[in-house]
Amino acid sequence: MFKAIMQVKSDRTAWLKGGDARCKMASRKLAHPHRLVLLGAPGVGKGTQAELLSEGLGACHLSTGDIFRAAKTLDACDRTPNMTNALGYMSRGDLVPDEIVLGLVAERSGCLRCRGGFLLDGFPRTVAQAEALEEVLRKQKVALEAVLSYDLPLEQVVARLSGRRICSVCKSVFHVSTRPPKMSGICDHCGAALYQREDDRPESIRVRMAAYETSTSPLSEFYRSKGLLVSVSAEGTPEEIFERSLKALDGRAG
Ligand code: AMP
Repeated sequence: MFKAIMQVKSDRTAWLKGGDARCKMASRKLAHPHRLVLLGAPGVGKGTQAELLSEGLGACHLSTGDIFRAAKTLDACDRTPNMTNALGYMSRGDLVPDEIVLGLVAERSGCLRCRGGFLLDGFPRTVAQAEALEEVLRKQKVALEAVLSYDLPLEQVVARLSGRRICSVCKSVFHVSTRPPKMSGICDHCGAALYQREDDRPESIRVRMAAYETSTSPLSEFYRSKGLLVSVSAEGTPEEIFERSLKALDGRAG
């Protein structure tokens, strides 16, 4: 039976800062670390599922988008030129070029071999990135367990994106109607202000959906052909989708 184990929220310092940064909490050494990729159009709720799966399975939530958002809060002089370039693409809603993303992930390859496991969210986004990930994992001598692909009709994707709000400090995700915070505009977990991501505004949503269709949806085929793809309906509440995700992984393990 595929069991959820409740864990404290993982510390992602090494992933968010890169370079020599180390996680403050000693990395957990699980007997069977889960190594998963989460796929799905922007707005299907991958980030929320990644948080729930991370708490439930003990694997670290590794989001490339979070690396860029963390970089945004740095002083301009503390950013590498790659980072500054990446932020320009991101605020327009465009995909950041593969070489920049791959450079950032390669710098953080220690997070991929971590014995706590990982949940990749937002990476890979292109077939070239998926091929590069295979190579990095091969070098780290670890293998992907499965790729969870979340499916949702387009009109529901748009409703989810435009209502999403993020905590400016701990990055927890809320939604104005489906997952509202207890106090409007304030994070339930740390009390900081919530904000709407620049790329969740309508003009950026359109660009992101187009980028997803052309670059990211061929990834499903890539992983299906390798027998790794597990499709999960992203309709319903976050908790329902989470239960469905665990069942889908369970069915695979059995
Ligand atoms: P996300 O939080 O995953 O939706 O990412 C936010 C933005 O960061 C995207 O719209 C892209 O501009 C950029 N980004 C994040 N991950 C990647 C990636 N793997 N490849 C290219 N661009 C990315």
